[in-house]
Amino acid sequence: MIPEQIALQAKKCLSCKNAPCSASCPLGIDIPAFIRLLKEDKPEQAFEKIRSRSIFGEICSAVCPLDKHCRSSCVCGIKGQPVEIPMLENYLFDRYFIPEKCACDKQCDVSGSVAVVGSGVAGLSCAVTLAQKGVDVTVYEKAQLGGITANEIPPFRLERKAFEKILQYATCLGVKFRSDEFVSGSEVSVLSEAYNAVFLACGLQKEVAADVQGNCKGVVGATEFLRGRCKSGRKTVVIGGGNVAMDCARTALRSGSEVTVVYRRTQDDMPAFSEEKSSALREGVQFKCLLAPFSVNGTGDVISATFAEMKVVGQSGGRSAVEKTGKLITIDCDTVIMAVGSQADEEFFRRCGLQLVRGRVEVDNDMMTSVDGLFAGGDIVRGENTVAKAVRDGRQAAEGIIRYIDSKKLSCKE
Ligand code: SF4
Repeated sequence: MIPEQIALQAKKCLSCKNAPCSASCPLGIDIPAFIRLLKEDKPEQAFEKIRSRSIFGEICSAVCPLDKHCRSSCVCGIKGQPVEIPMLENYLFDRYFIPEKCACDKQCDVSGSVAVVGSGVAGLSCAVTLAQKGVDVTVYEKAQLGGITANEIPPFRLERKAFEKILQYATCLGVKFRSDEFVSGSEVSVLSEAYNAVFLACGLQKEVAADVQGNCKGVVGATEFLRGRCKSGRKTVVIGGGNVAMDCARTALRSGSEVTVVYRRTQDDMPAFSEEKSSALREGVQFKCLLAPFSVNGTGDVISATFAEMKVVGQSGGRSAVEKTGKLITIDCDTVIMAVGSQADEEFFRRCGLQLVRGRVEVDNDMMTSVDGLFAGGDIVRGENTVAKAVRDGRQAAEGIIRYIDSKKLSCKE
């Protein structure tokens, strides 16, 4: 018997014909169908229904934004009580995603070998989709396996075990991992020679540096901080308004710091998901908006940070257009965390033979770049986005790679 709480949520579902929840799921999961199976008390079949589209259910249910994708599109939400789809998905994956068992249905339809550069969500999604079909896959990772999602999303949002299960599943399918192995841009062409295709899922590797005066101890990058390589002090200022800034703020708060998030536009303009902003505020993080970084102050350690006050002067691209008022504001702090975003490493891609367009790699419908046999997906193609979209990219690239390998075999026979 499924637990009462799960049964109650499933019962709420109206089995809509043109289900808007499914239409807004980037992975195309048939949500009414899996909920119907839950209603019939067939949880294992419900799990299989989701698994046929994605094995990332535990991760998506934990970190997909509540105001985008499935839950926010549920018609029951009109009355303020959407079906808690992520809760149902999490329940099913927690109980039924047993990596060794799930890997048993591996097929061996396709022969070939593929190198995946980057072991984040897009890379793993591509790797497992290929390995499920019998392709020999090797994943190269310059640091710890799991990329940003596994190593920089704090454990209060996503438990590491969710990722461990995916890694275990991939290993059971025969995927080989080479961690701590940096692949440079020029080495990508070496991989292209050794494998039938290469998938680049290396993310936005370079943190954007905020333009501030001063050089003191206590100014740290978000990546360094979230990977636990440095600690926050007593009073922390986080510069930025995205999800990474919220993760830094909530992590610093948990270590006992007093935390202020400073953002150059209005609170509504902050790119962080709305539930991440609400959680940060609810937990006690302070927001100070319309302040642009100017300097970090101190001789040696940071003692304060100074910001230029901004004012709204109109709208630009759906966000407030702001300009400086001429006034400077100083906030006392002993730690400044820079969380203003990341960008693609242009030099890396130039060495791969790729030109970035507006900071992104361009791909066709099969996720292939302008270089034959070189595919790409995830943040380097669409910018920072949801985990579900990264999973979709990886899957789409795997399907494209299989077509590519098949087409090469056919042309060899001709
Ligand atoms: Fe069920 Fe809501 Fe999806 Fe309709 S939109 S099928 S009620 S989950």
